[in-house]
Amino acid sequence: MAKMLARLEDKERRRRPSDEELAERARDLAQKYLGGRPRPTSVSWSSQQERRWGSCTLVDGSIRISTRVQGMPEWVLDYVLLHELAHLVHAGHGPDFWKLLEAYPRTDRARGFLEGVSFVQDDAG
Ligand SMILES: [Zn+2]
Repeated sequence: MAKMLARLEDKERRRRPSDEELAERARDLAQKYLGGRPRPTSVSWSSQQERRWGSCTLVDGSIRISTRVQGMPEWVLDYVLLHELAHLVHAGHGPDFWKLLEAYPRTDRARGFLEGVSFVQDDAG
């Protein structure tokens, strides 16, 4: 039981990484799926994202991820990070942008997940 709780805590912690852990995760993901091309200068959580899951500032290469993503499955957080990282390579949502994200096997699933969350939240609001 203690072991199971420890595992759950570990999982919960990984779903809510610190800013430093978030930046490290972004670097790993950029390396693994995007050939190391995006090099963000900073990656941090932000509670000022309104309805967006994340944003990036091209001029300084910084990425902010909405705190609303905290507690979502890790593969969803990874997708949100990859989405913003891909914007450092392609600013818009054109075919080249989505082509980059095809490297991540859970892109479609994560987009579906986030659409579902938005739907529920819009409905509640
Ligand atoms: Zn985007």
